[in-house]
Amino acid sequence: MDRFAALNLPHGEKLVALTFDLCENAGEISGYDGEIIDTLRRLGAKATFFPSGKWLLDHKERAQQLLADPLFQVGSHSWTSHRNFRLLSQEDVKADLALDLKADAKVRETLHARACYRPAFSQQSDLDHATLFRFPFGTCNADSLSAVNDTGLLAIQWDVVSGDPAPAQSAEAIRRGGCCERQARFHYRYARKRKEGGTRPGSFAFTC
Ligand SMILES: [Zn+2]
Repeated sequence: MDRFAALNLPHGEKLVALTFDLCENAGEISGYDGEIIDTLRRLGAKATFFPSGKWLLDHKERAQQLLADPLFQVGSHSWTSHRNFRLLSQEDVKADLALDLKADAKVRETLHARACYRPAFSQQSDLDHATLFRFPFGTCNADSLSAVNDTGLLAIQWDVVSGDPAPAQSAEAIRRGGCCERQARFHYRYARKRKEGGTRPGSFAFTC
């Protein structure tokens, strides 16, 4: 049966999953906000990143740094976001995933071949391939979910949008689970149906 990834949290634990999309459309170089990574490292906060395959190839060094860090998990976010997998043909979905996973494998192989690579240090986060997949816009249908599962990836969603890409967004608004109108508008439409007052234990916080 096709499925999404799910977590079973210990009763009474107040845990929130921090996730970051690293999106990059065709013809764009999206850049990288190193301050976010610095802050996560300083606080020892774990996080999961969902780069598109194009982002991985355009930011090879950064991608390897994320992969090598035991704090971080690196999943997959399609080849070039954001194509709506619910609207693509099955052939297009498979072709997109194949390109994405090829980029994922290439970057991981490059990391593993480096003389400075220390698998004992990074093995908790750095596997041979991505295991989690975030649909662009969080949208899918039965066929695209099945295609994702066929590659060995488990899809994972979110229930809180931080809105961090908006320059005027306050830390308080992000804490409440607010939303920026521009970059997260598509995600928001999906997330607001599920949100019941912002972040709560077990939430998956999404930023882009
Ligand atoms: Zn995205």
